[in-house]
Order: sequence, then C-alpha cells, then structure tokens
Amino acid sequence: MSISKLSSVLATSYENFPKGRFITLVVLRTTHSETIFRTEGSGEPMCSEFVQAGLEGENQKTIIQRLVMTKRKQVAPERRYGREHLRAHELLYTNPKDGSLCSLNTNAPCEMCVDCFLYGFAAGGGGAQKSRIWTEDAFSILPASDVVGDRTINAIYETGTMRDEKGNASTALNTSEYIKPGVHFLDVVTLKDVTADELRYIIGNILFTSRYGAVSSRVGRMENEILGVFGSITELPSSLELVQATYDALGKPLEHPLNIKQLITASKQVIANWKNKRGVSVQLSEEELANLLTDVETNWSPDERDNFLKRLTQSYESFRQVAPEKNKGKGKSKGKNTPVEVEI
Ligand SMILES: [Zn+2]
Repeated sequence: MSISKLSSVLATSYENFPKGRFITLVVLRTTHSETIFRTEGSGEPMCSEFVQAGLEGENQKTIIQRLVMTKRKQVAPERRYGREHLRAHELLYTNPKDGSLCSLNTNAPCEMCVDCFLYGFAAGGGGAQKSRIWTEDAFSILPASDVVGDRTINAIYETGTMRDEKGNASTALNTSEYIKPGVHFLDVVTLKDVTADELRYIIGNILFTSRYGAVSSRVGRMENEILGVFGSITELPSSLELVQATYDALGKPLEHPLNIKQLITASKQVIANWKNKRGVSVQLSEEELANLLTDVETNWSPDERDNFLKRLTQSYESFRQVAPEKNKGKGKSKGKNTPVEVEI
C-alpha cells in the first residue's frame, strides 16, 4: 500500500549495477535488559567515543563520551534472524565448491540465497557481492558514565553462601561492565537499490531481532523501533548528527532513564527537518509509516511468510544461473586465501 509511495526510490527488480536510489531508515534501539557490547573476553570496557554533545550553543562546545553500538553488532544478529527463516523454508543453497550449506563466517557462502544477494559476501574462491545495507555506528544519547554499570560476579556455592564446606571464601570471578536497561541508541540505516520485497525483508530483520551483543542468550534484550523512512538520491545525516540534534532538542537536565515518549518526539522533530535536506524526495507520514510496518508484518506472518520468502528468492533466479559459471572461472585464477568478511 504505502510501499508504493517509495516506488521512485525502489528498484523494480534486482539488478547488478547500482542506480543511486537510497532509502533511509531511522531506528531507535532501546535496551530492555543488561547488554554487553565488546569484542572479546570479559572485563574489557564497552566501545565508546568522545564526541560533541550536540550541534548548537553550549552543547556544541561540550565533549562527552558516548557508548557506541558498532555496525557489526547491529547487522550480525539481524542477518542471522533472516537466515533462520531462510533455513526453515529451505531457501539456503549449498556451496558448489564443497557442498556445504550456506553459512556465515566460513569460506563458503552459497552466493545464491537472499542473504548473500542482499547483505553481500566476499568468498575465498572468488566472487563478491557488495552489501546493499549500509549501517554505521549507533551512539547513545546520554554519556557512557550515566548508562554503564559495573557488576562483580562471584561464584556462589550450592549452599547459597560464599564459603565452601571447608570454609574457604569464594573468589570473585570477574568484574564486568554492562549497559543498563532503558538505554537508547539512535541509528541511521541506508539501503541502496533495494526492491519492495527486499525492503520488507530488511525491515523484518530489524523489527524482529531482539537480542544483541555478547552472551546474548542471557542478557542483551533490545527493542527496535522505526521512527522514520525517507527516499532520496543520497545519504542523509549520520547517526551521530541525529543523536546530537536530538540531544539539543531534549530539555535539560537529562538523566538516565530518559522518558521514551519525549525522546521519540524530539527525534521526530529533528528528522522532520530532513525533508529539505540533501536530495530527499519522499518522507513517509506517520500514517504511511504505520501502513508500511503493517505491510511488513503481514508478509512475515505465518500465513504469508512462505510465499513472501519464496517470491523474494525467485527474484534472483536469472542472476543465479549466470553466477556459478562465472565464479568458477574466477576461482581458478584467484588464490584461495582471499580473506573472508567476518561477522562478529
Ligand atoms: Zn547464501
């Protein structure tokens, strides 16, 4: 329905060559439990950056340390979500080289499934597809010092005490930093030359992914909300600009936890001004956005999902037949040790 409003910036079918059509999703990500973003090991500090607090007046002169949710921390779980369904509907392909089923973090992407076509791959044996989903680091609104907690984890014995049967005290296992519940990250996701069904697939992955970060089975509950959708001929302001402008628009003093309604109002005020920016041709109204999200949910619903995913898979058919031949040839001339894009 309202997806047709975006038709000028949607591709009618998948094409190999880019044509400068941009769709921007403004995403608010809110932690609903303790969350841990770090590269590896425990006890490491959270990712953060020193940046200007805002873009105006005093805020522009104030430097604060903001938490960062890196792009890999966003995309990897969202890709995995979509792939779970591709697997369930038997839409992942086997890699012709070694006969293994398409999987992330290996040398053997199938180069044929929806995920490979959309999120891209760099295969060891030659062949590559650029990702058409451009993410960037998302920043917390409040300073890291306000939204990070410290927890010391002790080993408790089965008696429920800190002492074993011989009376020896338990040693602290470690001290670990975590992001508190109720922390907000603002994020700009740019989609390049996607079709209507690809857009539905990507939005579904973002809306339905609920766990992020390290040890995500135990902590890391997060809720994503789409605050705005734009069509344009170029990229729109960055996640950092968005978070700084929203910080300016919020009343002071600011304390954790922020009121989410006030935050959403402030962010929407900021993006309302984007209408006049950098080649924007379409901005969905509140009603159109709600319709788009309903459309996405309908296509992902148990009744429609099989149809939807198969239709999307089918859309790459003609490109799939050419690709394996071409890649075979390339594979011979290229070394096998080309690095693989690793998702964490
Ligand atoms: Zn694949």
